[in-house]
Amino acid sequence: MTDHKHHTNPTFDALRVQLQSLQSHTLSKESHSVLQAALSSLDKLGEQINLGLEQRRLAALYRVSQVLGTSLDLTEVLKQVMDAVIGLTDAERGFLMLMEGDGNDLKLRAARNMAQETLQLDEMKVSRTVIQTVVEEGEAVVTTNAQLDPRFSQQESVLTHNLRSIMCAPLFSRGGVIGVIYVDNRAHDGLFTNEDLNLLNTFASQAAAAIQNAQIFSRTDKTLTDRVAELETLARVSRELSQRLDVTHVLEVTSKWAAESTQADQAYLALRDSENGHLRIATGPRAGERIGVDQPLINGALQAGTPHLVTPQNDQPAQLITPILANNQSIGVLVLESSEPFDAHAMQFITRLTNQAALAIEKAQLHEHVQRVSDEKTKFVSVVTHELRIPMTSIKGYTDLLRGGLIGPVNDQQTDFLNIIRSNVDRMSALTSDLSDISRIESGRLLLEPEMLLVHEYVDQVVKSMRHKFEEKPHELEIHLPEDLPQVHADPNRLMQALTNLVNNAWKYTPEGGRISIRADYDNGFVRIAVHDTGLGISEEDQASLFSQFFRSEDEGVRSENGWGLGLNVTKQIVELMGGQIGFESQYGQGSTFWFTLPTVAPEELLEEAVTTIQE
Ligand code: ADP
Repeated sequence: MTDHKHHTNPTFDALRVQLQSLQSHTLSKESHSVLQAALSSLDKLGEQINLGLEQRRLAALYRVSQVLGTSLDLTEVLKQVMDAVIGLTDAERGFLMLMEGDGNDLKLRAARNMAQETLQLDEMKVSRTVIQTVVEEGEAVVTTNAQLDPRFSQQESVLTHNLRSIMCAPLFSRGGVIGVIYVDNRAHDGLFTNEDLNLLNTFASQAAAAIQNAQIFSRTDKTLTDRVAELETLARVSRELSQRLDVTHVLEVTSKWAAESTQADQAYLALRDSENGHLRIATGPRAGERIGVDQPLINGALQAGTPHLVTPQNDQPAQLITPILANNQSIGVLVLESSEPFDAHAMQFITRLTNQAALAIEKAQLHEHVQRVSDEKTKFVSVVTHELRIPMTSIKGYTDLLRGGLIGPVNDQQTDFLNIIRSNVDRMSALTSDLSDISRIESGRLLLEPEMLLVHEYVDQVVKSMRHKFEEKPHELEIHLPEDLPQVHADPNRLMQALTNLVNNAWKYTPEGGRISIRADYDNGFVRIAVHDTGLGISEEDQASLFSQFFRSEDEGVRSENGWGLGLNVTKQIVELMGGQIGFESQYGQGSTFWFTLPTVAPEELLEEAVTTIQE
């Protein structure tokens, strides 16, 4: 082969051979020099053709490099690379391999014109020796005729697959070989030249850069997708965790998600007993079982405060042991078991999950504690109010006896004092009555006896019972009740209580000479009863605390009146128990309107109606 070889035009080659063969003939000097001139013109022509080819190839390379790297999708980039290689080199077929894993494993990633079933390297009808040499030496290889090439001719693959022209270039990135591009031709020898190899090398370096970019992108993209998926799971867990505030629920949700997201076969959660520090399984079929000192791995993870991975051995499953840390203290441990080993990613995720669980467990434990304390308080209040009732009744009775002069004459000053005692006992009795209502509502012991009631009657009763108060501190009182107001479904005593509380507040917190109106309207299955006053009104700050127990405004006008700050709270709870709602509108310094609603139909009837409608 000469350096002037062109490989695309057999006619050109044939002509040259024919001319050369003429040289061996005896020719006249003249003919000889004509022949020489012809040969040298032919060579020049060959050079020009090669130059033209070279330019065409460079142009092609330029076009390819412009396209390369426009995509960040690795599969798409590899496809572009393979199309370009075939287009640039006249190869019959080609493929591209990339290093996988820690860089020792070459995997076929893209191929052109290779039989589909031969995608495993050892089954592929290609020269493995060529590929190996390229990877090991990091240098491109071209062989014009592998059958005769001393480097490869002895290779079984070269012989059996009848390989002739082979070209293979390494893909370099960051100083290392990340893969190879291989092209070959089985039928023709002499297909590739050193120029082709240069071209392939130049192209390979561009291809490597594009591949590397796509790989980095897909890794970043994958990390990002994984992270987003993980965050979504954690958000779902968090939503489930906050659905209920009991510890068992929190533990069950946590171990369920832990198992699901790591594909573990088994998951259990153990918590430390707050009293004796014992670790006891809290979820799953082994619930209640104690984890003892004989489990060194679990104890080790707990002591270190870091997760521990156990690889599967013999019959033992893989384990992921993650301590549950709250304020740097291990309050428990999550153990996952699987026949497959857990990876670092699972470990990271579970650590995040248990951190979240730790907060939820603490919150639920706190809630349970508060609940216990609150139950105890309710019990205490109930006992105390009950015990106070008897002495109070007795004080009331004796005071009234004395006041009435039944025991003997009382002078004016004594009457004044007795009146003070009586009004204070009334205050105390109002307090114990409210407290006892609250404790009954909180413990679910407040029994309602609802019936159908006429609102008019109860408004009248309340107004009558407060007549003496309106005499003491007069207000204009207006009552607007429509004639056709439907009956309400409510407990008579509780309706009285709610109405009295609101009218009494309006009376208390309106300076003398104000206007109080009581109004009722029907609206969509409910009667809305509203008590309006032109009194003190409530500041926006105070409005936020309204209906909470023991809340009283700091306002002087409020503080000058008697009260414990329990009335609105009790009213709200009983109205809600009767199926209604309560609310208010108020403007500081102008007045307030407090309202509540009561159903006009019993809830059971509503339910029956709904069922019939569905059945129809
Ligand atoms: P109490 O009247 O015993 O203080 P309530 O629970 O009935 O307790 O009311 C709580 C607080 O709400 C009152 O102390 C007062 O500050 C405010 N409040 C209630 N009703 C009115 C009203 N009609 N006008 C102004 N403030 C009111």
